[in-house]
Amino acid sequence: MSPMPDRLDFSHDAGLRSWVASANAPDCDFPIQNLPVGVFRRAGSREGFRPGVAIGDQVVDLLAMRDAGLLPPEVAASLIGCERGELNAFMAQGRAARVALRHALSRSLLEGSAHQARLQPWLLVQAGAEYAVPCRIGDYTDFYTGIHHATAVGKLFRPDEPLLPNYKWVPIGYHGRSSSIGVSGQCFARPRGQTKGPNEAVPLLRPSHRLDYELELGVFVGQGNAPGEPIPIADAEGHAFGLVLLNDWSARDVQGWEYQPLGPFLAKSFATTLSPWIVTMEALAPFRAPFSRPPGDPQPLPYLDSEGNRAAGQIDVALEVLIQTQAMRDAGALPQRLSQSSYLGAYWTVAQMITHHTVNGCNLQPGDLLGTGTQSGPQPAQAGSLLELTAGGKNPLRLANGESRTFLQDGDAITLRGHCERSGFRRIGFGDCQGQVLAARV
Ligand code: CA
Repeated sequence: MSPMPDRLDFSHDAGLRSWVASANAPDCDFPIQNLPVGVFRRAGSREGFRPGVAIGDQVVDLLAMRDAGLLPPEVAASLIGCERGELNAFMAQGRAARVALRHALSRSLLEGSAHQARLQPWLLVQAGAEYAVPCRIGDYTDFYTGIHHATAVGKLFRPDEPLLPNYKWVPIGYHGRSSSIGVSGQCFARPRGQTKGPNEAVPLLRPSHRLDYELELGVFVGQGNAPGEPIPIADAEGHAFGLVLLNDWSARDVQGWEYQPLGPFLAKSFATTLSPWIVTMEALAPFRAPFSRPPGDPQPLPYLDSEGNRAAGQIDVALEVLIQTQAMRDAGALPQRLSQSSYLGAYWTVAQMITHHTVNGCNLQPGDLLGTGTQSGPQPAQAGSLLELTAGGKNPLRLANGESRTFLQDGDAITLRGHCERSGFRRIGFGDCQGQVLAARV
């Protein structure tokens, strides 16, 4: 493992404890070493969304903190433009602004801080909050960096040539749809689409009956680039803001009929769900790992290669998927785990995605979202989609309550979770990314 030693500072010290007691529980996703940002309001209220930071089971109201004079002037100034619940203006300022906010919050929330008494009234319990997508997402691109997923899915669609020859040379992606991106808690109607069964002569318009999830991470872009000015890989990490969990809901029957020759369209554009808190690149610094190619695979072209990327381009995030069916919910049963995997095996890194995206002169903008693609592990049981777990719907999964699933049924809720752990550092997590399928509209 290679944390980024030059990127570690006092705020990563595993010994730090917060006066918010819940943040000190060992399995808490949001200890004082994490400090992810998002936008929130009181649940059920009609207030505007506003920027906040998660600490333990609470949310800190950043604007209230600013207005109470509890943020240093340069940090207060960095939040100008975020008052209406979109973090783009803050994201555009890059790493220095994130580090300054992180340091200020770390000091204010630290056990023994003189700010405790004045900050306490501005905490809201997360159970009493609701969230929105944390910024205006101008463009959303979904990559395909999970090679085990690409191989397994490729086998189902093209048994004789699972991995197309470009896969190991070019970070494959397509332009997704940002209008239907929602935050954890998103409910959506089963999509209808044009599908054609193997034994049918013509396609029909009908509700998808092969509805699936995809276990992904999302990378938010911080500072953008000017049109015509590609981002060299040595600078690419400087343009990443942070990571969220991302569920790329997919209608496999629609996808199978429409995807050639131009790729996914309506099979993916009806809904995408994100976890509400952006875990910053700074919080992830202890959990970096080297990037390398398996023996025999081509090395990345020079524009996708750098010393920094080789030394610490990967990020070690443990991932899992859980399901709660309507019957489980009715019986008061907890969600059941479907699979576990890791982001560590991604074939292309965050830096490579950013550099490749801009190599033709395409400009990224603050708040743009890059999906990593489904992160399945090498073993079949580590698959990040039902398509893989059920071998294309041929092998139904048995659930603990006796139900079985090939694809998702109405009422099914899927939760993605992720966390980072490393000896000598505090465990951090992403919180839940949950979404639920409702019946198709008639
Ligand atoms: Ca995807």
